[in-house]
Amino acid sequence: MSFAPIKGRRRGLRTRIVLYTSAVIGVTLAAAFLWSVYNLRMVLQDRNDAFLRHELDEFSGALSDGRGDSHEHQDDPLELLRHEAAAGVDAGLLVLLKHDGLTEGFPEGAAVRSFEQAAETAEPDAAPHTVAVAGIAAGVRMVCVEIAVPSEKSSEKSGGKTGGKNWTVILGLPLTESEQTVASFNTRLAAGSALFLAAAVLGGLFLTRQALQPVADSIAAARRLNPADLTARLPRTEAGDELDLLAVTVNDLLDRVARNHEQVVQFTADASHELRGPLSAMQAAIEVTLQQPRSNSDYQDLLATMGEQCHRLADLVNDLLLLAKADAGQIELQRAPVDLADLVAEVVETYRPLAEEQDVSLETPASDRLVCLGDRMRLLQLTMNLVDNAVKFTPRGGKVCIKLAARDAAACLTVEDTGIGIAADHLSRIFERFYQVDESRSADGTGLGLSICRWVATAHGGTIEAASEPGRGTSFRVMIPNVVDELGSVAGQQ
Ligand code: ADP
Repeated sequence: MSFAPIKGRRRGLRTRIVLYTSAVIGVTLAAAFLWSVYNLRMVLQDRNDAFLRHELDEFSGALSDGRGDSHEHQDDPLELLRHEAAAGVDAGLLVLLKHDGLTEGFPEGAAVRSFEQAAETAEPDAAPHTVAVAGIAAGVRMVCVEIAVPSEKSSEKSGGKTGGKNWTVILGLPLTESEQTVASFNTRLAAGSALFLAAAVLGGLFLTRQALQPVADSIAAARRLNPADLTARLPRTEAGDELDLLAVTVNDLLDRVARNHEQVVQFTADASHELRGPLSAMQAAIEVTLQQPRSNSDYQDLLATMGEQCHRLADLVNDLLLLAKADAGQIELQRAPVDLADLVAEVVETYRPLAEEQDVSLETPASDRLVCLGDRMRLLQLTMNLVDNAVKFTPRGGKVCIKLAARDAAACLTVEDTGIGIAADHLSRIFERFYQVDESRSADGTGLGLSICRWVATAHGGTIEAASEPGRGTSFRVMIPNVVDELGSVAGQQ
């Protein structure tokens, strides 16, 4: 028998498991990555917005209650605002102060001019939002507020130049630093994820190799199995897991297959041996007869001998065929009510001449009518086998008794003899095929009779058992269920 190479397929399974788990880990990592970056951005944005609001409060507070670090500008709102703007610039802000179409930007430079353009449409009191500003790739977070300035203060200090009442303050926080934080976080997270994924793939490869090792060992053990050597067994993991259970189940199956194979081999050897006996006898008789010219009566004797051996061969082949068919479940019993007393009487009639010839008394005590549902031909075969053995193994002057009784809704057939008996170590094996206690005493037997008896009993749902005492006799008891009562219904059934 040759095996298709399956190494590649096993590798494929391992690779697939690693690929699937790595894909799941990869997708999970990517999702966690995106979620972390999104949340980091949100946290940074909240902090930036809080910072911008706090700075705006500083502007409003400076004007409304006149506080501020510089006492010298307490009565000049514009100077107060400029002072706050300078403080905002120190904190990293871009500041625009708007009044009556005039705009002052802090700190001086290109950045604040770009911010001024971007903030042209800024609406006071709108929520903080990000605007694109030329020269600042990350954009600028912007807030805008209108601050009321007492008009007399405003007009007198500005000399009429700033005569309005409301000032617009626009603060911008360049997001460059936040973006750098996010970029640095991204780099670290990506590097960590790549390392984690690589470790997961390598770990996955190692673990799947370990996990599939018992399967590889089982395949190797299974490959060693062949009809000539059925001793190999799958290795157990002893972990009590599914693989271990599979190994135990397959090993049990292999035990049964090995036992069955052994029986088949033994059966074939025994059958060949039994078939060779009559064939050898015929061959020898023919050779001896042909050695010299013979009379007609010699040839008739030869033919008679050959006839007997042919008869034995036919019996043997029939028995073998019957058991083979029984094993294959190909025999269907022809069930019908069988009058067992009538059947026993028929067997006694058949064997009485032989029993008388061997000076063995054949008795059957009168019994009540006992009818069971069964196959008459098979039950007759069973009873004849038992009586045949009893007469055969009972010396002259002995007795064979066939009893019939109803017991527990079953018919109990007992065949007792006062014959040679069977020793205990043989008794347990006499139902085995071809088993004969003493082949020389069973020359005309095949060792299949009791195997057939057991099959007939079990096929009827019954049992057969033997008890014996060497030198005192043997008793076979057959229980056949499905006794039929007077009305024709099976006992124990509705
Ligand atoms: P066989 O064709 O040899 O009779 P069986 O299967 O009928 O084969 O019986 C198997 C063996 O059991 C016999 O060879 C014999 O040794 C033993 N045996 C069966 N019945 C009896 C009996 N009534 N008394 C003693 N030995 C018996």
